[in-house]
Amino acid sequence: MVVVLDTVRHPRPRHPEKAHRPDAPVHKKPDWIRVKAPVSRGFAETAQIVRANGLHTVCEEAGCPNIGECWEKKHATFMIMGDTCTRACAFCNVRTGLPGALDALEPQNVAEATAKLGLTHIVVTSVDRDDLDDGGADHFAQTIRAIRARCPETTIEVLTPDFLRKDGALEKVVAARPDVFNHNLETVASRYLTVRPGARYFHSIRLLQRVKEIDSGMFTKSGIMVGLGEERNEILQLMDDLRSADVDFLTIGQYLQPTRKHHEVVRYVTPDEFKAYESMAYAKGFLMVSSSPLTRSSHHAGDDFAKLRAARETRRPR
Ligand code: SF4
Repeated sequence: MVVVLDTVRHPRPRHPEKAHRPDAPVHKKPDWIRVKAPVSRGFAETAQIVRANGLHTVCEEAGCPNIGECWEKKHATFMIMGDTCTRACAFCNVRTGLPGALDALEPQNVAEATAKLGLTHIVVTSVDRDDLDDGGADHFAQTIRAIRARCPETTIEVLTPDFLRKDGALEKVVAARPDVFNHNLETVASRYLTVRPGARYFHSIRLLQRVKEIDSGMFTKSGIMVGLGEERNEILQLMDDLRSADVDFLTIGQYLQPTRKHHEVVRYVTPDEFKAYESMAYAKGFLMVSSSPLTRSSHHAGDDFAKLRAARETRRPR
């Protein structure tokens, strides 16, 4: 478990805003949550390429349970615009605070690392940058263009913040033409004030809808965590809301608590329940659904993108 005041590895506290909160109960993980240890040669090579290019990954910063499996295959998800987020969501392990200036060389370094890792599909995400006039949209666009120029065969997926109160930001990212535009809802509407207080549920739905209005051919994707106190009916409503915005791909995974200062795991959802959510989501019209305890937005993103494209082709009228 990551320590909130982690001043040994990091000179600054990771979550100063959470340090004075009462401890939340920590529940034992069930048998079905088992992950691969990060010890392979591929893992070490991935780590070396990430470090050599001075990059951050969400795999490390968020403490993703799949890192052993993904990095063995050299699948890393880059987190651009620094390692410090201007929001302080109750579930998230990414450091909170006032971020530094943008690194103008980062787009090129991400492209270089993409080439070195040999990625056929790359996922790029970021911290929230409410401090920037465009929320970092131009930096996202530059990164997409740099990857396209360096790795023209690689498909690109962006997982963006909500660009709340940043007029014109979303449009900049869409204009750079990523193959997949992902923006996570994270949880159901009723849990927003507790889990994601800086965000607005309907703003996030509208953002995804707007992507399709600007470019109807762009794939859209969103994801949630379960186990945060949501009700089953609220998840079904969320699926309907996403389908109203014509979202193509839904991911559903189990929330895991990074430290005792983070939101409690209210419940471990069983693998059978995840399967049931998957069936319901397909019935509601999503082209692609990934629903399992260890599903994360970028887990198997390359394989899933191939399936997503195939699913659209199958559905296209002949
Ligand atoms: S699931 Fe995504 S965030 Fe987690 S290790 Fe894999 S690529 Fe990184």
